[in-house]
Amino acid sequence: MKKEKLIVHGGASNIKGLSPLLEEKQKAVERACEAVAGLTGMSAVDCVEKAAAALEDEAALNAGYGSVVQMDGRIRMDAAICTSESRYGGIIQIENVKNPICVARRLMEHDYHSLLSGAGAEQFAREEGFPSVSPMTESAMKAWLEARGDFEKLTYEALTAESNEINVRKLSTIGAVAIDKDGRLAAACSTGGTKFCYPGRVGDTPIFGAGLYCSPHIAIACTGEGDKILRRLTARRVEDEYLRHGNLQKALDTAINDLFTAEKGYGGIIALTAGGETGFVHNTSFMAVTETGARL
Ligand code: ASP
Repeated sequence: MKKEKLIVHGGASNIKGLSPLLEEKQKAVERACEAVAGLTGMSAVDCVEKAAAALEDEAALNAGYGSVVQMDGRIRMDAAICTSESRYGGIIQIENVKNPICVARRLMEHDYHSLLSGAGAEQFAREEGFPSVSPMTESAMKAWLEARGDFEKLTYEALTAESNEINVRKLSTIGAVAIDKDGRLAAACSTGGTKFCYPGRVGDTPIFGAGLYCSPHIAIACTGEGDKILRRLTARRVEDEYLRHGNLQKALDTAINDLFTAEKGYGGIIALTAGGETGFVHNTSFMAVTETGARL
């Protein structure tokens, strides 16, 4: 019997020092991991869905409740889930659902379309019985009201004049990877995207091979500057490297170095192999991450 494991993250960021905000994120990640670790006999896919949903419910993390606001003051979320049995479901730019990861899981289970976006994703959620729930927190609304004055016009040009640094400081997407007692692997990711991004912008998080990846060998979830992670297919890169030499930490280091060398990109990655080895890496000053080797 294989040992069940779960590793989760709450995003990587470049906020300097141990601010209360970072402690809050770390505690949120530990709470979510703990909530799932107490349950027994779960499949890897149930485990990552439950862990991701618990992380989405944490107001301190940028996914589900607590998601950041796009430039037009609306929250549009991305989430995806995948398994070592080659199953995948992703939801892009969905509004008004509590747990986008559960909608992605439902889509995966239907085993027909792989990705749904925008109004179609929301329609699917309603058909499947997910109620309309606003993920807006008081602090997300406050941040939006304060920032609105910074943009002269709500145009793409005004947005790109903003420093890239701003996005790097505000990353806190969530992700989970797990292995169950039968050796099956699964990965899940969910995000509100980057703060004040252009309406409809999609990053790496829901894209198979970029923000997440799973094969019979390895499960991977990424976080960070999604526009750049997309261009490097960072999650898939970890697997390529791992299969080449069998060293997980070296594969993670190579993928994060590639992100920085090619794109000056910042982020973090968690991974779990079929042998039960866990690993993570980040090139930011902080990443909220925790794992359990206890029964799921
Ligand atoms: N990767 C996410 C995105 O670009 C953001 C994050 O990881 O915090 O949408």
